[in-house]
Amino acid sequence: GGVRKAGVIGWPVGHSLSPAMMTAWLNDAGIEGEYSPVAAAPEDFADTIHRLREAGYAGVNVTLPHKEAALALADTASDAARAAGAANVLVFEKARIHADNTDITGIRATLDEGGWQAETGPAVLIGAGGAARAALYVLKAAGVPARIVNRSPDRAAELARSMGCAAEIHGLDAAPRALEGARLVINATSLGMKGQPALALPLDILPADALVFDMVYVPLETGLLKQARSRALRTVGGLSMLIGQARPAFEAFFGKPVPARTPVRAMLEAALEGRP
Ligand code: NDP
Repeated sequence: GGVRKAGVIGWPVGHSLSPAMMTAWLNDAGIEGEYSPVAAAPEDFADTIHRLREAGYAGVNVTLPHKEAALALADTASDAARAAGAANVLVFEKARIHADNTDITGIRATLDEGGWQAETGPAVLIGAGGAARAALYVLKAAGVPARIVNRSPDRAAELARSMGCAAEIHGLDAAPRALEGARLVINATSLGMKGQPALALPLDILPADALVFDMVYVPLETGLLKQARSRALRTVGGLSMLIGQARPAFEAFFGKPVPARTPVRAMLEAALEGRP
């Protein structure tokens, strides 16, 4: 009984869109609940988690830089979290802390939204960090041949090896070769984010029915997505992934599915457009 509490823990966490999104869903679902941002430095992560648990929280979303620490701290973990080597959700159960990775769910939902069909052909994954690892899990589960492009090819090779994935590996300079015949391109780097260098790719090499997915959502339409749209390629953005990872987290914390009628996308778009 009483108010159900959950939150998002990160460092920094002030820019997180999760509190606005979760609170809108709580209100529309008529749930007596609270969802708050919690700032914790890496050295305070474990103590903060235990304090939230003592305070009766149902669980937390976990964002940078704590996703690996969250998995390490948990008593049990889903296959997805284990394979990704990271958790973005911790659920505080009676006797244990359970780790999940709903970034994977969010990526899968975003590809579905873009109308992606796994059997159509190879996928190009740009990046080799945590977000790329989650994307590679989805590609591997779908049985799609993956080509990983990263500034540091060694890091990409290590990612593929650690996931038991026979991916082709390329440096950023060899991106044109990787794009040949690809049906899907995923940007899982921070390139194209506001204040970061652009991600320049020769998209004209892609087949006309390819899908371009950019995980970056600030700006909402990145240079890469703009270029893809101008070539009449299909596009999906990082906001879809953000919403897609939050849905199962909400259900895990508050015990109910998110209300379908809440216009969270429009709300988040407005919030992002209003930012300096
Ligand atoms: P990591 O720090 O783990 O990985 C960063 C990646 O970006 C690496 O592949 C790195 O290459 C590459 N990179 C960074 N700067 C440059 C540069 N100047 N030139 C070339 N490559 C560069 O970050 P994450 O994997 O956690 O996140 C990556 C991005 O994914 C985030 O910035 C965010 O935009 C997005 N994201 C979106 C989410 C969503 O819900 N929409 C959720 C999570 C992430 P190298 O290995 O060579 O260093």
